[in-house]
Amino acid sequence: MKLSEFLGREALSLSFEVFPPKTDSAFESVKAATEEIAKLRPAFMSVTYGAGGGTSRYTLDIAKNIKQTYGVPTLAHLTCVSSTRETVAAKIAEMREAGIENVMALRGDLTPELEKGDRSTWAYRYAVDLVRELRASGADFCIGGACYPEVHPESHNQKEDILRLKEKVEAGCSFLTTQMFFDNNLFYNFLYKIREAGITVPVIPGIMPITNGKQVERAVRLSGSLMPQRFKALVDKFGENPAAMKQAGIAYATDQIIDLYANGIGNVHVYSMNNPDVAAAIMANLSDILG
Ligand code: FAD
Repeated sequence: MKLSEFLGREALSLSFEVFPPKTDSAFESVKAATEEIAKLRPAFMSVTYGAGGGTSRYTLDIAKNIKQTYGVPTLAHLTCVSSTRETVAAKIAEMREAGIENVMALRGDLTPELEKGDRSTWAYRYAVDLVRELRASGADFCIGGACYPEVHPESHNQKEDILRLKEKVEAGCSFLTTQMFFDNNLFYNFLYKIREAGITVPVIPGIMPITNGKQVERAVRLSGSLMPQRFKALVDKFGENPAAMKQAGIAYATDQIIDLYANGIGNVHVYSMNNPDVAAAIMANLSDILG
């Protein structure tokens, strides 16, 4: 099922993100974790893609398994940074073969080596190039793109970031998913600005339940997200107590989702990090709201 068929509906629906294993030996345990999440019957599941190669070959295996065995719609991520036209064409062919209908088109993060390289020789410099390639392939994919309520770290300012985002959407994105954020007001503000700029596709907010103290530093480093004082207080209080931190992190994420829904946002994406118990706890917290 194409995500565009149900995105933008009023009712609350949750989707979960999983990531493929980093090593062959971890494949079975990761597969089992993603299956536990699929059994919760989320609206869809997204499967990330290792930009540097590493985990990328399992993305389609996992996405295919979730879709075929559990009937849960999947969204396969694909990155283009440092890829050649041939490798991207091969990936697109593989996705078609696997029956993938939804693709998240991403640039991928720049590693220090890539940062130093000569970018003028790259076949794909930005995600928009991949969106165009996917559209030109003739495959009828429902394409998603990433967006950043707190501005992409490489952008000079939000105005420029939104201008680039608009180009990406016009190239063929049917929806956008946000980077994680911990303060919903940043999202509401961003939504207002992109609507004003003429971006009308559904925007799925991405929420990450922080369930241990160490995750905080990593989340901030990767996403550049601002930690509200309310959240910092929670980490200060429970950061050293794993069980309490997990409960508090799930409660915080649940609260963010309820606030989003109360403010008219139906589809919420949860960065569940291959954690079935976190995904299940959030769904249980929202059981009456999810209906
Ligand atoms: P782009 O849309 O290309 O934007 C990157 C930067 O370039 C922005 O500053 C933008 O404003 C600027 N820009 C865009 N177009 C132009 C242009 N034409 N000229 C000049 N500047 C331009 N990474 C992975 O490796 N694997 C994943 O599976 C993955 N999944 C993700 C899912 C989501 C929802 C999000 C938010 C991020 C994900 N990432 C993933 C991380 C992502 O790859 C990085 O955030 C990366 O730095 C940017 O990717 P992008 O697709 O947003 O890039």
